[in-house]
Amino acid sequence: MEITAAVLRRSGDNPQPYGHHRPLELARLALDPPQPGELLIRIDAAGLCHSDLSVVNGDRPRPMPMALGHEATGIVEALGSTDEGGFEVGDRVILAFLPPCGECPRCNAGEPFMCSKGAAANGEGRMLSGGRRLHELSGGEIHHHLGVSAFATRAVVDRRSAVKVDRDIPPHIAALFGCTVLTGAGAVINSAQVRPGENVLIYGLGGVGLAALLAARASGPGILVAIDPFPEKRAIAQDLGAIALEPGDTEGLAAAFPEGGADVVIESVGKAAVLMAAYAAARRGGRIVTVGLPNPSEMFELPAVALVADGKTLIGSYMGSSNPARDIPRYIAMWRAGRLPVERLLTSVSPMEDINGLLDKLAAGEVIRQVIIP
Ligand SMILES: [Zn+2]
Ligand SMILES: [Zn+2]
Repeated sequence: MEITAAVLRRSGDNPQPYGHHRPLELARLALDPPQPGELLIRIDAAGLCHSDLSVVNGDRPRPMPMALGHEATGIVEALGSTDEGGFEVGDRVILAFLPPCGECPRCNAGEPFMCSKGAAANGEGRMLSGGRRLHELSGGEIHHHLGVSAFATRAVVDRRSAVKVDRDIPPHIAALFGCTVLTGAGAVINSAQVRPGENVLIYGLGGVGLAALLAARASGPGILVAIDPFPEKRAIAQDLGAIALEPGDTEGLAAAFPEGGADVVIESVGKAAVLMAAYAAARRGGRIVTVGLPNPSEMFELPAVALVADGKTLIGSYMGSSNPARDIPRYIAMWRAGRLPVERLLTSVSPMEDINGLLDKLAAGEVIRQVIIP
């Protein structure tokens, strides 16, 4: 069938403003039918994530051309075979950006976020079971973005990318659970395993940082502090009960943690310099979780003796150390109970034609989550 999708033809070297130069082309593409193990999804909302921008600006190089978008929800329109593991036409699904194979040692160990087969498929911009379902109308192949490619009217995904949820969740809220909530809440709940009463410090209040703040707040922290340069974002954090500080406010930080640092620090900015600050801001014996994705050229330096002498634990958290099939329903239950007000992450809902201009707003750091309706 023919679909419309936002295609990036060059990773990096895309001049700004994007709204003018339009690196994402709304192209007509051919989408193959789903194969056994796959689902055809009508996308009805997709979030614009910083890692989409990182492919556009080259911080996260990917094979080109690629149909972008990896945080989305939609309705199952067709199955690849008569039995697709309980999925039925009409189901609402949330798409996760790493399809776990379910068979490799990491999957068997309960760490689907480290699935080597899923990661290999994502790196090559193909389906988990091999090949690509997206083509130019003239025949050339288009790469899939993290098995999802959701800035599109329709997508074919591996069923292991999809998590079935209740139909009543508004699409512009449901989409956010696929990346920002999975990553941010997972960093707090799975990676850091924050315990009630622990003090939590969060660097960066983009979608992931703010989702981490929501999850930390739900975990019953002692002191909750967030750092971001934008006053509008600090105001949201304050409204949610956190102490909000500007970057570099060392006095404010010292006053917030008089015992010598936070028990848990979450770094969501994706800059090595911020990770160094986050490491320093943890108390002795504290835990630092990093979820930001710095440019591969950035190095993280530390006095080697510090790891032992200060007894800190540095934790890398990919996809919030999540099992999407287990965690997305949990986070939705928390949202329903009012404990995870995911609405606070939503900046705007726009038609897909606006996508290049939305990239500019994301690059300027002034927005949290912008959702696109294809
Ligand atoms: Zn993302
Ligand atoms: Zn696996």
